[in-house]
Amino acid sequence: MGRSVLVTGGNRGIGLAIARELAAAGHAVAVTHRGSGAPEPLFGVQADVTDTEQIDAAFKQVEEHQGPVEVLVSNAGITDDTLLMRMSEDQFTRVVDANLTGAYRVAKRACRGMLRAKWGRFVFISSVIGLSGGAGQVNYAASKAGLVGLARSLTRELGSRGITANVVAPGFIVTDMTGKLTEQQREAALAQIPAGRYGEATDVARAVRFLASDEAGYINGAVLPVDGGLGMGH
Ligand code: NDP
Repeated sequence: MGRSVLVTGGNRGIGLAIARELAAAGHAVAVTHRGSGAPEPLFGVQADVTDTEQIDAAFKQVEEHQGPVEVLVSNAGITDDTLLMRMSEDQFTRVVDANLTGAYRVAKRACRGMLRAKWGRFVFISSVIGLSGGAGQVNYAASKAGLVGLARSLTRELGSRGITANVVAPGFIVTDMTGKLTEQQREAALAQIPAGRYGEATDVARAVRFLASDEAGYINGAVLPVDGGLGMGH
């Protein structure tokens, strides 16, 4: 059955792969962007996840276009890496505001419609770093670990209403975000990946497609790694 889907940050990278995968599965897919527009044939709505009013306006457009959001993929995220000693409070709060508070904002806006429909799927894109930590990533790791607590609390609040909230924890995926790393950092990461390769955005997208489906209705509050074994044991 085709659902109404919204993917934040679905204009590029992992979010775009998720949006394309879900569209190919027969869903009506909208994506947020911050001015770039959305690649065809996706329905684009402009919203910064740090701005509650923009989120509300985007949801209204999606509701008019394809009905209330039934599947929310909270994917938008940023990094701003540096060691704790050098990290300003602004660097910390800016990353948490986008990655964690942003997820809270969109989840809160989406849950009304899901409650009414007695069906819903939240998928939060976290990171292996949220569970393992990462040197120079105190802000990012804290924001990504926070998504686990957020999703599991949602599961307890809404689990009996046909709504699931799960977390996907990607490892090293080839996108603009990892493109910023040095060759040395990339090689060091590769050496730690049992699969012997970096991940592709489509690897993440397929996991999200499953968690968004009717078939995944009894999977709730889970953290699903998509990391080639990088984070095993967490
Ligand atoms: P990219 O940097 O390629 O894309 C980030 C996306 O998030 C863009 O669409 C960007 O929009 C959007 N975005 C950033 N900040 C905001 C904001 N304030 N409001 C709305 N949209 C925003 O990253 P990836 O595709 O690699 O990452 C996607 C998600 O996956 C992130 O949450 C990231 O933390 C997570 N992840 C990535 C991994 C990787 O190896 N790449 C590994 C683990 C997790 P715009 O185009 O406007 O900038």
